[in-house]
Amino acid sequence: MDRAALALDVAREVGFDLAGIAPLAPPPAAERFEGWLAEGRHGSMEYLERNRERIVDPRSLLPEGHSILCVGLGHSRPAFALPDGARVARYAAGRDYHNVVGKRLEKLARRLAAEGFGGPWRKVVDAGPLLERSHASRAGLGFESRAANLLHPEFGPWFFLGELLIEEDLVPTEAPVPGSCGTCRACLDACPTGALFAPGRLHAPDCISYQTIENRGPVPRELRERLGDWAFGCDVCSEVCPFGAGTPDLAERFGAHPALRDEGLVSWLTVGEDFSTRFRGSPLQRPRRAGLARNAAIVLGNRPSEEGRRALLRALSFDPSPLVREASSWSLGRAHGADRGVRAALERARGREEDGGVALAIDRDLAQ
Ligand code: SF4
Ligand code: SF4
Repeated sequence: MDRAALALDVAREVGFDLAGIAPLAPPPAAERFEGWLAEGRHGSMEYLERNRERIVDPRSLLPEGHSILCVGLGHSRPAFALPDGARVARYAAGRDYHNVVGKRLEKLARRLAAEGFGGPWRKVVDAGPLLERSHASRAGLGFESRAANLLHPEFGPWFFLGELLIEEDLVPTEAPVPGSCGTCRACLDACPTGALFAPGRLHAPDCISYQTIENRGPVPRELRERLGDWAFGCDVCSEVCPFGAGTPDLAERFGAHPALRDEGLVSWLTVGEDFSTRFRGSPLQRPRRAGLARNAAIVLGNRPSEEGRRALLRALSFDPSPLVREASSWSLGRAHGADRGVRAALERARGREEDGGVALAIDRDLAQ
């Protein structure tokens, strides 16, 4: 067996569904990525700019390296909702994929070493320092779609990517995965915010996933209603994709995290110092406590309830984060603005608010 085929076999043996090999070199999308950054479509993800050179040329990650072993792990499962109906992106419902994929990559590296693949290696999980979709498409794991993701005939858009950079010079995978979007544009038409502004082109600051996960500041007011039920991430462009239909139910692979299986928005909004404990091992730690509580506050404004009204009033008065108080004010104004008790509470909160930005926001919500 040749060395490339052996490496791919080992990748499947350690549990990856998909595997292919790309050269350790700038991928096809490098120029497109530079243009995307230059147009400022990455929002506040400054780390992408800071790491631009490393991201574009992966040789800087492993100067002795020659090959990227690209792997995929399916995570398709039925639509996921909290007990109160709020939505969470399916990939985030269970155990943190960074840990699962990362540990499997380490196992792969050990197994390869035992097979005589010597030298240094480096694992990468998630988009961080690598244009992973472009490398993966070069390695035959799927084709780059109009939704700016990677599609595979069996797993559709529902699979995680990981990469193992290795020293050995392996023959890259030849055959591209068959398929194309054809005349379909369902994702572009369905995107609630127009973030997919052209085929394959994403304006991150308009994307619900970006806003609810990456953005550390307030969600722009003009986008908040369009978040709808999405409290973390958004699957709309994947759910309408014909390649996502008929994918296997792999829910048991990642399970459901207790903070998502048993809790709802009110619980998320009122989470305190126990945030790290309650969300340990979940991708929902990424926006941190204030970001997740902000998301919960906004969705409670889109899904009014009496319990939600009480929780928003408490957050408006007592939450230590201006981000959460501001979002609570918006939601109270939107969902309960006709309630005289709520108006009075907003006025009282305005009187004692020390943060200038939140005070202005409350004024705006009272005026509306
Ligand atoms: S994740 Fe949601 S908001 Fe972002 S591009 Fe897809 S459909 Fe649009
Ligand atoms: S919804 Fe249609 S256009 Fe969008 S990624 Fe899927 S196949 Fe391509």
